[in-house]
Parts: sequence; C-alpha cells; structure tokens
Amino acid sequence: MAVVVQKYGGSSVADVPKLERVAEKVVATRASGLDVVVVISAMGKTTDQLLALAHEVDASPPRRELDMLLTTGERVSMSLLSMAIQKRGCDAISFTGSQSGIMTNDRHFDARIIEVRPWRIEDELARGRVVIVAGYQGMSYRREITTLGRGGSDTTAIALAAALGADRAEIYSDVDGVYSADPRVVREATHLAELTYEQMQEMAEAGAKVLNSTAVEFAKRARIAIHARSTFDAGRETVVHESAGAEAPAVVGRADLATIRVAAEALGATLSHAGELGLGVRESALEGAHACLVVATSAPGWASHRRALEARGCSVEEGIGAVSVVAPELGAKPAWMAAAMDALARAEIPLLGAHTAPLRWTGRIEARRVDDAVRAVHDALGRMAER
Ligand code: ADP
Ligand code: ASP
Ligand code: MG
Repeated sequence: MAVVVQKYGGSSVADVPKLERVAEKVVATRASGLDVVVVISAMGKTTDQLLALAHEVDASPPRRELDMLLTTGERVSMSLLSMAIQKRGCDAISFTGSQSGIMTNDRHFDARIIEVRPWRIEDELARGRVVIVAGYQGMSYRREITTLGRGGSDTTAIALAAALGADRAEIYSDVDGVYSADPRVVREATHLAELTYEQMQEMAEAGAKVLNSTAVEFAKRARIAIHARSTFDAGRETVVHESAGAEAPAVVGRADLATIRVAAEALGATLSHAGELGLGVRESALEGAHACLVVATSAPGWASHRRALEARGCSVEEGIGAVSVVAPELGAKPAWMAAAMDALARAEIPLLGAHTAPLRWTGRIEARRVDDAVRAVHDALGRMAER
C-alpha cells in the first residue's frame, strides 16, 4: 500500500478543537486506503514557552538539557493526537524520534539526521495502524536525545518520507503554501504554485520560516516533492520540486542577526571560533584591512558567546536584520537589485551592506526596519514586473 507522510505544525494543533480536526483529516486519509505517517509539532507556542522557561533558570542553558526539555513539547501533541485518532475508531500509535529510528549526530539543539531506521514504523503500518511521530527530535549514536533546530519537524517529515520510500511529503500549516513574501507582512503577496528546491532553500535560509531549509535540502537530495498546504483551508498548495519554479521574485526578511568586525588577519581565527561556539555564519567578507562576519543571534547562549567574541577583540553589533530578494538568475538582473536598493533609499532605510549570489540579493539593514523593508522592496519589484 502507498504510504503518505503528513506533517502538521504547531498552529494546526494549537488547542484541542484544532487537534481534533487534524485527527479527522488523518482518519479520512487512512480511510482513503493509504498508509499514513503523521509528523507532529508541539502545540502552538509550546517550544518558545519551554525555551523561555529554561532562560528563566539560566541565560546560557546547557544544550543537552535544553534538548531534554524541548522534546517534551512534541511528546504532548503526539500522544494527544493518537488518543483523538483512536477515539474515532482508527488504530494508531505514537512514537518519539528515537523510537522512530531517527539517528542524528551529537550536536545538541541543532543536530543533523544521519540515518533513519524506520523498522518499528514499518511494522506498525503493516498492522494497519496510523503512526504518529514526534517531530523535531532524534537520538544520537551515544543514545542522547537531540533536537533538529527550530522548525525541525519539517525535516523529520522529509527524512521519514525518504526512508519509507514515499515520493512526496505533505506539510500542513496556517498558510496555503508559499507566497512572494510573508502574507502576514505583505497583504498583497502573491501565491506561488511552484518553486524549485533551490529557490525554496534560498528563501528559507533568508528567513522565510514557512519551510525549514534543512528539510528542503533533504527533499532535494532524496527527490521528495514537498506539498505545502493549509490544514484548515483545502484548495491551493505550493509544490516544491525539481522541475519548475517561480519566475516572480520573492522578498524575505529576518531580524535576528549581528555583525562582528575584526582585522582582516583575524578573520580565519574568528570563523573557527564562531564554529566552535556553534554560531551560524550567514556571511563573511574581507575588504582591505577589515573583515566582517554576519551571524544569527538565535543560537542558545548568544549572550555569553558575544562576551567570548568581545574578549578576543571583536567588535559586535546586534539589532541587525536583512532583506533578501530571491529570483531565478538574479545575479544577472542588476536592474532588480538597483530597484531594491532604490526602494530602501526611498523608505529611508539605510543599507549597511549588501551581498549578491546567483539566486539571491541580500541587503543588511537595522533589524527594527525589516518589515518596512520587505514591504518597500516587494512593492517596487511588483511594479517593475507589471511594466
Ligand atoms: P508551522 O508551525 O505549521 O510549522 P510556521 O509558523 O513554521 O508553521 O510557518 C508558517 C508561517 O510562515 C506563516 O504563518 C507565515 O506567516 C510565515 N511565512 C514567512 N514567509 C512566508 C512566505 N513567503 N510564504 C508563506 N508563509 C510565510
Ligand atoms: N516545535 C519545534 C519548533 O517550534 C519544531 C517545529 O515546530 O517544527 O521549532
Ligand atoms: Mg514551521
């Protein structure tokens, strides 16, 4: 029997009535004759609340203990969903990441899936059960519980789809797919019916949290088509696959960055140090005697990492954001980059730095102006496309 992997995000199971509606959808899918594996996220904002709780105890909590804490969120939702499905007369069983055979490296808080051994899931599917898997978690070869980085339930879904031989994964959230900008920020954003893996990966890395970038990378490697849909509004979807993408530019913002400035000769050592601290380096540039790194401040323990960097003579500036334009062959469309820069100037948003890659242009700006910048750039590029 064909197997389908469905992932439901936190907003889809934010309360019991929503969780019951998800259970109904799952039961209907099972009744259509498919084997169903459901990957579930923690309810609503649970992960944020658990993180805040940890930070009340310690500003730099140990990553291992954070993982022990954060994985409880998905255990709550997986067991409740299993109960709601069984209540409807459909046989179901819930598994943690480790029970599902999701093996990771031992990098706590943003571990990488190395291998999936889905035998227990396959046995339960063969018994006719719906299998519910706690997203966002796995187990390292040292038998430690790990988490996969924020938004990591998407990655669980893709890794399981690949391991179970499915050719697609359905990712359900509170939007009916991917838009030309975050529809919460830009009301006129347009729905994108198709995207290539590369376009979606660039968007995710630039800050569009609608799909997790590692999940897209895994999907690309295993050729799993991602169908991004809304849980509660049937209809449109975005398919992320190999063959065809969007022609329209997408505009993405993120507000969680810091710049680190060092002398040019210290760049190599600073990059190594950032790696040891587990900081995600978004950009690094060298110009004459000066060098600059851009890092994400959302890593746990950022406050102490900042102090460690300053102790090495780095100058660190927080409150940095970025606005990115993602489009096919953007590197060959200087007029679009000029239009983005012009839109920022007209909105009086100072550009602190800029970077061009084949599919993406990124401008660094003040974090507090990111939403304004996304709106201004989206509007300017939209008007260009109309001409
Ligand atoms: P889930 O909890 O289901 O994983 P997320 O909150 O991670 O859902 O992702 C869905 C959210 O992503 C939407 O509510 C939307 O605000 C945001 N988002 C950001 N950029 C985009 C985009 N380009 N297209 C669609 N949604 C986007
Ligand atoms: N609950 C986790 C998070 O909030 C994983 C996920 O939702 O995908 O990041
Ligand atoms: Mg998500």
